[in-house]
Amino acid sequence: MDRTSDNGTLDKQSALRSLPAVHKLISSHLAAHLIEMYSKKWVTEAVEEVLSSLRQMWAGDSKPDEAWWKDRISETGIMASVHNLLKKRTRPVLREVLNLTGVVIHTNLGRAPLSERALNAVSSVARGYSNLEYDLQKGQRGSRHDLVEQRLCQLTGAQAAMVVNNNAAAVFLVLRELAQGGEAVVSRGELVEIGGSFRIPAIMEESGVGLVEVGTTNKTHLADYRRAITENTKMLLRVHTSNFRIVGFTERPALAELAETAKEHGVYLYEDLGSGALIDFRSYGIGDEETVMQSLRAGVDVVSFSGDKLLGGAQAGIIAGKKDIIGRLKKNQLARMLRVDKMTLAALEATLIDSANPDCAPRTIPVPRMLTETATAVRERAEVLVKFLHEELAGREEALGLQPEEAFGLQLIEDTGRVGGGALPLEELPSTALELKVKGVSSQALFDGLRQLGDPPVIGRLVEDRVRLNVRTLLPGEEEICAHSVAHVVRQLLHSHA
Ligand SMILES: *Cc1c(COP(=O)(O)O)cnc(C)c1O
Repeated sequence: MDRTSDNGTLDKQSALRSLPAVHKLISSHLAAHLIEMYSKKWVTEAVEEVLSSLRQMWAGDSKPDEAWWKDRISETGIMASVHNLLKKRTRPVLREVLNLTGVVIHTNLGRAPLSERALNAVSSVARGYSNLEYDLQKGQRGSRHDLVEQRLCQLTGAQAAMVVNNNAAAVFLVLRELAQGGEAVVSRGELVEIGGSFRIPAIMEESGVGLVEVGTTNKTHLADYRRAITENTKMLLRVHTSNFRIVGFTERPALAELAETAKEHGVYLYEDLGSGALIDFRSYGIGDEETVMQSLRAGVDVVSFSGDKLLGGAQAGIIAGKKDIIGRLKKNQLARMLRVDKMTLAALEATLIDSANPDCAPRTIPVPRMLTETATAVRERAEVLVKFLHEELAGREEALGLQPEEAFGLQLIEDTGRVGGGALPLEELPSTALELKVKGVSSQALFDGLRQLGDPPVIGRLVEDRVRLNVRTLLPGEEEICAHSVAHVVRQLLHSHA
């Protein structure tokens, strides 16, 4: 915006004198509304700040454009700036973003978006009081652990279940209760690191469990486990190799064989399932993931998995297995520290209700929905996004003195989506992306601009020096909001380069 052109007759002294006084602005009817929302103190401070920044415009030799200045120093102009300042100041740092990376369970972007049912459940128990620890039948103190236990048992076939803060906490609690002071046997092919800070060897050390590594990276035989079992052995631990696959010449014993060996030697078999699918994604042609139920059916004593990976619920660690084991875990002092709050339980229970209907779950829960959406459906949504973008940007080229098609380029291309969250790392989800170009703006600047100036921020990918917006992870109904945000950024970038 050109604020310094020399076409006015305004001189500095009279311009500064024409600024309205603070007390007058504060007592205006425009201020009353803001004072009600933000308090008199905040509004006064913001008014002073806006006035001071207006005075700054005359610092040195600068001379604002007269019409622009008049507009800005009107009561309406100043109070609009005040409102914007207060809005900016009270905007949460944690905010909604649009995920156009194509990575469904995106750890940096909050993993699983919740279902409608989960959102409603959270809002209804968070707004008022709830029976979090109150048994409505008996009218006495109840346990928060019991709230979702029955549903978890029905879905997994387990005798008992409980919920803690996340799966990392679940692993820690199980190791601590069942194997502290003793040893756990783990295959060298399963000593994984997940998300940087979670490493199986480190968490075992932290929980006071001796790690006994067996086999090799690609092959571990049943005999390796059997040889490693001593009187110190408390547990055989199987870890899901969530975020990588060893392909080719590989071998490991079947879970049922491990279960038999564990039983024979009187030690526990615990499987850290990582994602823990309740729905069989293989029936949708996705992945090779066994369900939680299949793991338990193979004879595992206890399993744990995340609430916000393939399950698509809230951040939580779910532990399911034998009744006596879960009973011990619930009594462990750590369970009190690792417990989840009512909002998590509400979201989780709602997600479990949806999961209990496997025909509906891939429609009602966002994560399974995004994973199973057909390539055609993704393409159709991409076309809707393009249509909205054209509407938003129509006419902008002329306004900027550019020929249409010159100012920006939109192109639909085939792209690949990913499951993410350290689940099914080899799975490629066929997808459509929007490739975006803006005249005179580098791809890096566009990519950064979408993230920094977008409202909501638009998170895409930079592939071979092109900005790609993968539509698989754009939630249905967000096409218009996304187009609006992208267009807003494109206009700002075009302006600053025009
Ligand atoms: C993701 C994962 C974890 C950690 O789960 P969080 O819910 O992120 O705490 C632990 N183990 C495995 C195998 C995982 O894939």
